[in-house]
Amino acid sequence: MSAGLRKRLVIGNWKMHGDRVQNQALIDGLRAGAGIVQEYCDIAVCAPFPYLAQLQSLLADSAITWGAQDVSPHLQGAYTGDVSAAMLADFACQWVLVGHSERRALYAESDETVAKKAQMALEFNLTPVICVGETLAQQKAGETSAVIAQQLKPILAFEPALLQRVVIAYEPVWAIGTGHSASPEQAQAVHKFIRNTLSQKQAEQLRILYGGSVKPENAANLFAMPDIDGALVGGASLVAKDFLYIAAA
Ligand code: PEP
Repeated sequence: MSAGLRKRLVIGNWKMHGDRVQNQALIDGLRAGAGIVQEYCDIAVCAPFPYLAQLQSLLADSAITWGAQDVSPHLQGAYTGDVSAAMLADFACQWVLVGHSERRALYAESDETVAKKAQMALEFNLTPVICVGETLAQQKAGETSAVIAQQLKPILAFEPALLQRVVIAYEPVWAIGTGHSASPEQAQAVHKFIRNTLSQKQAEQLRILYGGSVKPENAANLFAMPDIDGALVGGASLVAKDFLYIAAA
């Protein structure tokens, strides 16, 4: 499969935003405009846990899919506050973000924990969107490749049949929520590096998304890069027309 045949994928990460009324308006806006785009681009939204039932009821008869922003590394049991992969599957989630930089930084998630979460997701037929990326200090120190390789190490140890079911999102920490996206060339170089860590078959099939201040104005240039297969979008995913514009790009 060539780069042209990997279907584009744009995922909205709502983070800790929204309420039932706002969500309804956002989803109405997405549903109204998603029709033309869906043929070329898969569209998904990842919402806070309490709204997954709302997404299920609003999106079940649409081509827009939904998911969560985190998952427990545990199957079930005495893990107060955790939400299991089985529970996400119960609400027909298709996706779950794992290892978002905010979770790595604020909740000290290790690469191993992220890999366990991804594995748990796969066990319940969810697609883990595995986020990796370097901080500004690491980038300035020329450590980007080493950091990404380290973060991916336990993921690359998955058996091939599992590995080919994941999505990877390159999200430089310095670009998330800052308004300063990586340039298309900067992002392409890291995406290529990630693709080169995979076997040929996986490299051809796996979708690698870019995330970090993707906006209507920069999406087309990012998506023109051969190894960028779509985007993980934070802020701009809260405005239906912006998110759709990005997907249309
Ligand atoms: C994100 O939260 O994954 C993200 C990329 O955020 P933003 O688009 O707001 O930079």
